[in-house]
Amino acid sequence: KDSESLNFIEQIVEQDLAAGLPKEQLRFRFPPEPNGYLHIGHAASICLNFGLGERYNAPVNLRFDDTNPTKEEQEYVDAIKHDIEWLGFQWATECYSSDYFQQLYDWAIELIKSGKAYVDKQSAEAMAEQKGTPTSPGVESPHRNQSVEENLDLFQRMKAGEFEPGTHILRAKIDMASPNMLMRDPLLYRIVKKAHHRTGNDWCIYPMYDWTHGQSDYLESISHSICTLEFKSHRELYDWFLDQIADPDRLRPKQREFARRNLSYTVMSKRKLLELVQSKTVSGWDDPRMPTISGLRRRGYTPESIRKFSEVSGITKRDSVTDVSLLEFCIREDLNKNATRVMGVLDPVKLIITNYPEGKVEMLTAENNPEIENSGTHEVPFSRELYIEKEDFKESAGNKFFRLSIGKEVRLKNAYIIKAESVVKDNAGNIIEIHCTCDLDSRSGSGTESSERKVKGTLHWVSIQHAVKAEIREYDRLFFDEAPDSYSDRNFMEFVNPESLKIVETAFVEPFLQEAKLDDKFQFQRLGYFTLDKEAQAGQLIFNKTVGLKDSWAK
Ligand code: ATP
Ligand code: MG
Ligand code: MG
Repeated sequence: KDSESLNFIEQIVEQDLAAGLPKEQLRFRFPPEPNGYLHIGHAASICLNFGLGERYNAPVNLRFDDTNPTKEEQEYVDAIKHDIEWLGFQWATECYSSDYFQQLYDWAIELIKSGKAYVDKQSAEAMAEQKGTPTSPGVESPHRNQSVEENLDLFQRMKAGEFEPGTHILRAKIDMASPNMLMRDPLLYRIVKKAHHRTGNDWCIYPMYDWTHGQSDYLESISHSICTLEFKSHRELYDWFLDQIADPDRLRPKQREFARRNLSYTVMSKRKLLELVQSKTVSGWDDPRMPTISGLRRRGYTPESIRKFSEVSGITKRDSVTDVSLLEFCIREDLNKNATRVMGVLDPVKLIITNYPEGKVEMLTAENNPEIENSGTHEVPFSRELYIEKEDFKESAGNKFFRLSIGKEVRLKNAYIIKAESVVKDNAGNIIEIHCTCDLDSRSGSGTESSERKVKGTLHWVSIQHAVKAEIREYDRLFFDEAPDSYSDRNFMEFVNPESLKIVETAFVEPFLQEAKLDDKFQFQRLGYFTLDKEAQAGQLIFNKTVGLKDSWAK
């Protein structure tokens, strides 16, 4: 990258280096709270932080911001680690805010001793009322000027578990008239009587985000602590806390903010994603319709496509919404280059080639991927009776129908040119068989004149005798509204698309797909890109549709 194409965070780092920050002191972190699975928004932060690490050859810590035992779980820790590795990044050190609980507590004691923190016993409502408004100063708590001894005594008793949640909190004593509401004696500790996934019942007081984050950055010698814009007003507090505890000879971290990534037609907050999971609107955090990394993976997205999406959607200073079609564009491009071409029929109708010998089977050769050289080939069995897609045939059709109709010719992919002659219908008038003749000289790749013959349409097909039954899961957007959580008077759940999952139980695919493995990527010719679902078993193929061949979303 030349200096012109640097994102603004990289420019900040460049300025710091130019101003004398030694390059060896660069250190970054990605700080997820283990209260849910990572989503495509987190991927922006991951790619940004680990991208900085790669660019400057600097360490990047993975820090679990685990200060709220009511919402955090080991399951989320494990999933987060797996997703980051899958995206292709490796952290330098795995850290936990909970590892700093004792240090944070000791610093809190110091704050109390220097008269900069106090225990408040008022109700949450009373304290909220005293906060004031941005244009009018707040009211000081009656406990604000308690003696240091009393504060130490109360805080230690909070820690010892003597008090119930909500009855006592520790607050910083800063400025109840500050124009920044966060500086009006913010909360440092609250009582939570719940086992923590790592520290068990060691603690019943837990530090707040603001009292934890900057100090954790400081302890880990993080040079640039990058967070999202909603923390901009927290920066003053971040710095105030560091002023209280930081040794002037040690690296002082700085917080910088960038805009959250939002994606159209979905929600991103973990609380809302959890609601989708708990209400069973989706099958889990990794449901292929979810904007989670695990959902995208199961859907068939590749790490490369997600990294590419992060690169093209960029890092900005202003909130904006990225259209989900950009994400789809990124995976489509990747799969076009990397997916193996195969054939499957989702809505089958029987086709009989009357002049092809009964009982004969030919193994035809299919190129795995015309987009790459030497992609190899695989064999596809051909016989007299085939399935084709119902919608690829019309008894009579106009000139614009480049598929099969009576009297017209099409090519069967990798095989012969056929001509439809007649149909057989059931009593209800549905076509149950299409009878065709075949130009036996026209086999693709056979070198004959007929094999080069151009006809208007090419159809995919599967030999009935060799076809393998498969279940196909096709997905549409999970929400039918572009911004389901943007309405103040309506709940995002009202916009869930009731038709976001369509299951085709009896599709037929070519036998090559029996060997499909999780993570293999396929292009079903003319239908789209597909990948095996984790619920598939021996003898029960299940494929997820990743994305169609073209952007077909009706605007
Ligand atoms: P959520 O509202 O989804 O719970 P969060 O910010 O509370 O989001 P964290 O686990 O704290 O989730 O996020 C870890 C890191 O990822 C933070 O630095 C956060 O700023 C960043 N991050 C979270 N969501 C996004 C997003 N949509 N775009 C960019 N970065 C994000
Ligand atoms: Mg957070
Ligand atoms: Mg959160």
